[in-house]
Amino acid sequence: MIYLDHLASTPLDPLVLEAMLPWMRPEAAGNPHAAHPAGWRAADAIEQARGEVAALVGAQPGEVVFTSGATEANALALLGGVPAGGGGVVSAVEHASVLGCLPELRRRGHPVTVLPVDGAGRVDPAALDDALTDMRHSSIVSVMAANNEVGTVQPLAELAAVAARHGALMHSDAVQALGTRMLDMAALGLHGLSLSGHKLYGPMGVGALIVRPPFRPVPASAGGGQQRGLRGGTLPTPLCVGLGAACRLARERREEDARHIGGLRDRLWQRLRDRLPGIRRNGATDGLAGCLNVTIPGIDAADRLLDLPDLAVATGSACHSGVGEPSHVLLAVGLSAADAHASLRFGLGRGSTAAEVDEAADRLAALLAG
Ligand code: PMP
Repeated sequence: MIYLDHLASTPLDPLVLEAMLPWMRPEAAGNPHAAHPAGWRAADAIEQARGEVAALVGAQPGEVVFTSGATEANALALLGGVPAGGGGVVSAVEHASVLGCLPELRRRGHPVTVLPVDGAGRVDPAALDDALTDMRHSSIVSVMAANNEVGTVQPLAELAAVAARHGALMHSDAVQALGTRMLDMAALGLHGLSLSGHKLYGPMGVGALIVRPPFRPVPASAGGGQQRGLRGGTLPTPLCVGLGAACRLARERREEDARHIGGLRDRLWQRLRDRLPGIRRNGATDGLAGCLNVTIPGIDAADRLLDLPDLAVATGSACHSGVGEPSHVLLAVGLSAADAHASLRFGLGRGSTAAEVDEAADRLAALLAG
């Protein structure tokens, strides 16, 4: 299997697995919220992990709220974070876990604005300025750090500065960016940030919302006073430890990974371009190191990939819908539905190799030529 779908999920790093395993063994039993030595040991491990998560994004350990993943973190930020009487502003290329909150916000009477993007997938800070001027309510702005389909990196510092001028809170879904890019919440002016374990070579089923004052979302669940009441429930020690280890590795390897992965992405593009006349690249060329989104006009990408079962790449049909809807991101950057269906997303990662990239390009070219 040639695995080039790291934007959908990254394999667990062996060092992360090693850090987690002791906490999955029977002798590690102990509720981290229990007041006895077994509980305290687990709580200590979780607090260490909290520190690693915070360090990755320039936050304080006490600002980390562990969640089940970024979907939950985004919902907590958006549904719990819109100020009373306030509104929400998001971009058109946000992940479904953000866009999916909008109908509920509207139902609750909050005004919601969806900002368009340019052909590269970028939000214009001037458009945010206009939206916040029109809104005239206290608001929360949520714009992702990097897009999961076309890899476009947003001008977060500029957007956060605009939000600050209007007294709005600024949240960012940073799921895709953290593996290869440095994001410092304080320096960027972010009040909220979502991240996910399984996009960072950590475990599935865990993520975090980082909340910096004055941001304090209203908890989604009742009962259970854990995590300062923001997200009740017994913390899963192995998953939290795994997320902490993944964040530490990301901090240590980010630059090296970005170089390695970005080099492979350029190699893949070169090779595809040489072999497939008419192929086009989507999104910004200075985007996420591991993302290459291309359109090969005229093909039905999902259908053709069935002939390459040993190649894991994503198509331009929204994977979450399961019904072959064209990707809302590709439509937002100006592709037709037909071109969206003719698009493929390659997601390169830490373990990807030049040999895999070459073979993937050659197999795809051979298939489409035949
Ligand atoms: N945001 C982005 C940008 C993503 O790519 C994903 C995962 N596809 C999510 C949020 C949701 O993350 P999780 O799987 O942890 O719920």
